[in-house]
Amino acid sequence: MSNSQKTLTPRLVKKLWLVFVFLILLMGISYIVITGYFANKYYQETTQNLNAELANHVIEEKFQNASPFLEDGSVNKPLFGDLMHDMMAVNRSIEVYLLDENGKILYSVVLDHGDNAPQQSVSLSPIKSFIQNDGKNFVLGDDPRNPGEQKIFSAAQFNIDGREGYIYIVLEGKEFQLVSSNLLGQYFTKLGIRAVLLTTFFTALLGLLSIWFLTKNLRLITGTIRRFQEGDLEARIENPEKSDIEVFAKSFNTMADTIVGNMDKMKSVDLLRRELIANVSHDLRTPLAVLKGYIETLQMKRDSLSESDKQEYLKITHGNVNKLSKLIDQLFEYSKLEAEQVTPIKEPFSITELSHDLIAKFRVLADQKKIDLHLENPEENSMVFADVSLVERALQNLIENALKYTQPNGKVTLSIKRKDKNVEINITDTGNGIPMNEQPFIFDRYKQVVNKDAKKQGYGLGLAIVKKIMDLHDTTITVLSKPREGSSFIFNLPAYQI
Ligand code: ADP
Repeated sequence: MSNSQKTLTPRLVKKLWLVFVFLILLMGISYIVITGYFANKYYQETTQNLNAELANHVIEEKFQNASPFLEDGSVNKPLFGDLMHDMMAVNRSIEVYLLDENGKILYSVVLDHGDNAPQQSVSLSPIKSFIQNDGKNFVLGDDPRNPGEQKIFSAAQFNIDGREGYIYIVLEGKEFQLVSSNLLGQYFTKLGIRAVLLTTFFTALLGLLSIWFLTKNLRLITGTIRRFQEGDLEARIENPEKSDIEVFAKSFNTMADTIVGNMDKMKSVDLLRRELIANVSHDLRTPLAVLKGYIETLQMKRDSLSESDKQEYLKITHGNVNKLSKLIDQLFEYSKLEAEQVTPIKEPFSITELSHDLIAKFRVLADQKKIDLHLENPEENSMVFADVSLVERALQNLIENALKYTQPNGKVTLSIKRKDKNVEINITDTGNGIPMNEQPFIFDRYKQVVNKDAKKQGYGLGLAIVKKIMDLHDTTITVLSKPREGSSFIFNLPAYQI
């Protein structure tokens, strides 16, 4: 047995299990990513909503008493220094920017100036949209310290001493980002990964158990197939209709039945073939030995034998040659029929006419044996649809047998009767009959009823040929016989409607 078959089930289980674990891992990771994304969105929206008024407050609180610009037009830095002080105390995550009416950054209040200097201006469109909707819609704006990134913000417009501009507050400043990414990292390593690994471990364990349980049927089937392969021809899957893979289980059982059936058939064909060879060699040997004996005698005693003895020996030799050629003919005919090399050529013909011809042909033989051979109702003409030469062969064998097994002064009758759509042909004799227990087997090859009269012994092929011819016409032949009273062989052929 090959290794691949041995490991069929475990390999499938392993594959299913791996796919299962992979899917669980994929699901776990997707879940974390999706949760992270939505948690962040949720946080951003809440924070922006909560701090929507922050920029307005700065304007109201800080610019009420002091202008953000000095008289020379420059930014009032002490005022923003004060703002920075407040921020340090209250909220370290925000960054405040003073923008002119075009979005150009005039001043920034950030806790950590850090490495990257703020960009020169920010886009005004998100700021305007934010102000228009009173900070109620969720909108992201430029992060001046991280160009290309979008952040939540609060913004408000001011108009002081004829100078317009905006206070733009980034709510998730650099400080926030540092803390948040640290926490996120920790969340992933500590919580996320551990949770995913733990869940994966337990689900994989459960998955393995469930797959093992679910593939129980498959293992059972594989086991049965293996038993069958190892030679246990009785191995079948029990209750295939209850199997999870019913079609597979049933197919295997049917396949096993077919294989066993074919093997049995092949065995019986093989047995028959061996029997045939044994019988044929035996049948050929006897007439050949007789022939050889007589020919040798004729050769050796050519001068001493009388003319009448010579004639007698030649007659016996001739008889044996005839016997041999008949046997060879029958064997050839039977093998052709058995190998299904004969296709009947069906045509309408008169079975009555054929019977007349055959009776005329056997008349001499019947007269020699003082047997009354005749056709019943000779005036009725019945037409059948069949292969004329095959039917002739069958009738010939049956008449031959009837004459062979009937004593002198006996009767052989051929009757032809129309029965519905068929024509019934009956060959009845008043011969010695066939014992009841032998009747079912007389149509088998080489089956001969033990006969005391060795002269009558044929080769057991005549009726086997008749049976094959009947099969080719989809009809059957029946025998009715009583020992010492006689036998009837009856068969039907389809009638031909004129
Ligand atoms: P065989 O060549 O021996 O006649 P068949 O196949 O024709 O072989 O017949 C098989 C056996 O059936 C014969 O050996 C014979 O005993 C028996 N049988 C056939 N026809 C008749 C019959 N009309 N009457 C009695 N016995 C018959």
